[in-house]
Amino acid sequence: MDKFEEVLEKMSEMSEEQLNTLIDMQKKRICICKDCPTYNQCMAENKEGLFCFLGKSSCDADLIQCKCGECPAHTNFQMKYESYCMEGSEEEQRSKEN
Ligand code: SF4
Ligand code: SF4
Repeated sequence: MDKFEEVLEKMSEMSEEQLNTLIDMQKKRICICKDCPTYNQCMAENKEGLFCFLGKSSCDADLIQCKCGECPAHTNFQMKYESYCMEGSEEEQRSKEN
């Protein structure tokens, strides 16, 4: 089990309230999507982020660049994929491997 799978397991044991608090905190403190050229006004208005866990954006966007590779969460959680706002969460992209 790698770090990402460990985190997913921990998250699955949390209450909805704990999970929402964690998601809000990570969006503000760790996620650097807001600095990415792909992150657009619609995403900002919807307070979107943390796409690596939450999956695709609900907004229409063009993939210009992805900064996930520079994000501490990406390294810490041993994530393999990128472009989560367009391609889906790390879990979704991993599930397509097989
Ligand atoms: S890996 Fe990407 S989507 Fe996930 S927290 Fe970092 S910048 Fe945001
Ligand atoms: S997931 Fe990647 S491409 Fe999408 S906004 Fe975040 S850093 Fe940019």
